[in-house]
Parts: sequence; structure tokens; C-alpha cells
Amino acid sequence: MSNLIRIYSDTQTQPSPQMRAAMASAEVGDEQGGSDPTVNELCRRVAEYLGKESAVFLPSGTMCNEIAMMIHCRPGDEIIAHETAHIINSEAGGPAAFAGAMIKPLRGERGQFSGEDVLAAVRPDSRYVPVSRLLVVEQTSNFGGGTVWSLERIKEVASAARSAGLAVHMDGARLSNAAVASGTSAADFSAPFDSVWLDLTKGLGCPVGAVLAGSEDFIQAAWRIKQRMGGAMRQAGIIAAAGLYALDNNIDRLAEDHANAKKFAATIAKHPLVRLDPDAVETNIIFFEIDAPGKTLEDLCAEFLKRGMQRGAIVGHAIRIVTHLDVSAKQMEVAAETVVEILDGWN
Ligand SMILES: *Cc1c(COP(=O)(O)O)cnc(C)c1O
Repeated sequence: MSNLIRIYSDTQTQPSPQMRAAMASAEVGDEQGGSDPTVNELCRRVAEYLGKESAVFLPSGTMCNEIAMMIHCRPGDEIIAHETAHIINSEAGGPAAFAGAMIKPLRGERGQFSGEDVLAAVRPDSRYVPVSRLLVVEQTSNFGGGTVWSLERIKEVASAARSAGLAVHMDGARLSNAAVASGTSAADFSAPFDSVWLDLTKGLGCPVGAVLAGSEDFIQAAWRIKQRMGGAMRQAGIIAAAGLYALDNNIDRLAEDHANAKKFAATIAKHPLVRLDPDAVETNIIFFEIDAPGKTLEDLCAEFLKRGMQRGAIVGHAIRIVTHLDVSAKQMEVAAETVVEILDGWN
């Protein structure tokens, strides 16, 4: 493990000694046969956290999205999602490959759109067009800058979709960040959705896994596809134990990551070469642009690496920095000072 300040993504977290101890002592059984007690407990706890009847443990958030889309859609159907969505940009064409669905991308500020936008995107009843079948909402919006959909906005887009007969799915990769930042519970955010999932490997700090939740019927259907895709496991309690540890210990502390992100943003936003509205930083993700003639974001990342920081993710004209439990407040202060120093040298 390198000593670089790990600001590339909240996927960079390493399981802590306490988490590893919980994993080492986990009671295990045959997950595929439904008899791993630790996996069963994790599913029960996440279903409760999300206010759903049932849940299933899966290897990744991507598989949660793909299985949900396969259940909700028939080949030729259309999914409505924001143009920055993970299902469009980071799942290797999965919606087309597995669900056989096409996607109608919506525009909108900072990864979000309105109920009106949803209704305008729904196809008319005509044999020339695909059937609009599913709305997908990402909470928080990753490429939107870690923005939190307000509960009001969530209800508005979900009821617009429902009024048009669509199913609704929430990509909850960072739902806990939204819950902690807003004070709205994860269950309240999830209530309008048929299916929702929580990633264990982002801010929650686990090495593997995500949990998909919904009705009993939905989860039964998900289990069939999990089995078909080879996602059913054996003594998976070893990794599920990390999830239980995270539910108990790593949710409330997300507030620290948000505070660190805001402080970082406030410091670098003062620099004349940085384009960033610090008030736009709501959770653990910071996107900013630079206005340094002759210099690119790649140049900035090269300087990061020379000065003890990981590179950021470059998305379009912006660079993304992410805070998480493996970067301390002190390290984020150093990171902000480093950005300012580099840009001072370019001014
Ligand atoms: C990371 C992420 C996913 C996929 O989760 P994995 O566990 O990495 O497969 C899906 N959606 C969003 C918004 C994400 O950030």
C-alpha cells in the first residue's frame, strides 16, 4: 500500500484491523443454500435500514444495478436516467448486454432532473418507439458532484415515473452519505422505490460487496439471476461480517468525510485559478476546474503524484477528489495546501 494521500476514490479504503477481526471471527455457512448466518444477518439489517421486505448480498453495486434492470425491463425497453449515471458510463454496456434495454439520458444540473423532465422523456403509446419501463435515480449523484437529491425531489420524480407506469430503482452507492448529510433516513429516501441497493465498498469501507433490497418477490427474482450469473457464493459470511461491522461503525462517521471535503473545497476555492463553488460540495465528492493557461488537469495530477497525493479522476473538464475514512482531516488539509502550492507556481 503506498503512502500517497488517497483522494482518488472512496473505493480506496482498506479494511481496518477491527473490521478484519470481525471478518476473521465470522460464523459462516453455505450462502448459496441460504444457510450462512452472517450473510443472512447482513441482509436482514440492510433490508431494515432501507425499509424493504427483503435483501440479497451481491459481489458489487454494478451487479445490483444490472440484476435490477434485468428484472424490471424486457429486451427493447427504455430506461430513463441522468446522462452522468453510472449505468450509462461505468457498467461496460451492461444494460444493453443483460437487460437488452436502451437508455434515454436526461440532462440537468449536477446530476439531477425534475418530475417534468421525466414526464417529457416518457415515450408515447406507439409501436414505433421503445416502451418506457424504468426510472433510475443515483443517490448521491457521483458525477453530479456527490449531490444529494432532496426527499421532495425524490418523491417528485418517482411519482412522475409511477404516473406513467414506470418502475423506479435507486442506485444507492452513496445513499448513506446522502442520509448523513441531509438528516433524512435511508429508509425515507428508499420508500418511493421498487428496488434500492447500498454499496459496502465506498464510504462504508468494506473490501467486497453490496446489498440489493426490495419486495420478497423482487428478491426471489434477483436470487435466480444471481445464481444464473455465478454470483451465488459459499462461506461468504467472511465478507458479510465486514458489512455488519460497517453498519455499526462506519455510517455516522461519514459526517467527518463531508466536513473534510467542505474544508478542502473552501481552501482551494479561494485560489484565482480554481473554478469551484464550495457551497456545491454537499458530501464527500469535490469536482473543480482549473483556469491555468497552458496547463491541463493531467499536469495537475502529475504534480499531485510528485508531492505525495494520488491523482484525481478526470471527468470531462473537471477533476474529482473524494474523501473517505482512510484520509484524515490533517491529510486533507495537506492536500488542499498542496493544490494551492502547485497553482501558485503556475500563476
Ligand atoms: C461505485 C458505483 C457503482 C458500482 O458499484 P461497485 O460496487 O463498484 O460495482 C454504481 N453506482 C455508483 C453511483 C457508483 O459510484
